[in-house]
Amino acid sequence: MYCKTDLNSSSIMQFHILTIFPEMFQGFLNESILKKAQGNGHINITLHNIRDFSKDKHKKVDDTPYGGGAGMVFTPQPLFDCIEAVKQEAPEAPVIYLSPKGRRLTQTRAERLNTNFDQFILICGHYEGIDQRVIDALVAFELSIGDYVLSGGELAAMVFIDVMSRLVPGVLGNVESHTEESFSKKLNRKKEYPHYTKPAEFRGMKVPEVLLGGNHAEIEKWRRKHLK
Ligand code: SAH
Repeated sequence: MYCKTDLNSSSIMQFHILTIFPEMFQGFLNESILKKAQGNGHINITLHNIRDFSKDKHKKVDDTPYGGGAGMVFTPQPLFDCIEAVKQEAPEAPVIYLSPKGRRLTQTRAERLNTNFDQFILICGHYEGIDQRVIDALVAFELSIGDYVLSGGELAAMVFIDVMSRLVPGVLGNVESHTEESFSKKLNRKKEYPHYTKPAEFRGMKVPEVLLGGNHAEIEKWRRKHLK
């Protein structure tokens, strides 16, 4: 298995997204932290339209399931061709199929993946899913973002990209760019203290007095006490 060698190097994380709806990613990728992360060269995202790889004269990518049943299934040809083309660009990347049947995406799993890889190929399914032969031949593992069924893999891919990008040193700004270890410990902390910002009083609701002063030991004590 390919492993990242230098954990502290300012490596770039690369995502290849295989989708039939590339436009769905526009708002998500072009705002806020992910926009900045791409601009600063911390992450790189390439969208591949599965339909472009279809050899069907109508650019069809799906068909009815063998054995009957509801819905449509992605045919193998466009996905095989698309994955094989993308693998040329990202030979070390695991091919991940976003699927409700997959392993659950957790913070721990995200950190493990971040330790082992800096390139990912993500397949976004639709309808009833994709032909099993694609999974058997080319998919490294299936990944679920939770126990519910989405209508497409795009939202799941966005969640994955968001979670993974935050682990790239520099993406969250200087404050966060500690060593890999303290970085991960910090993110693993499930508990959070309450946050307040200006104004000190809003509609009669006051910010706790201790937070307004500069006594850092007292503030730390207050925050520890209010961890939830
Ligand atoms: N019939 C399938 C569901 C397909 S949902 C089944 O029962 O397993 C359509 C697509 O949405 C899937 O191909 C997958 O890419 C995506 N998807 C749905 N729920 C998801 C989840 N919880 N996590 C990740 N991807 C999901």
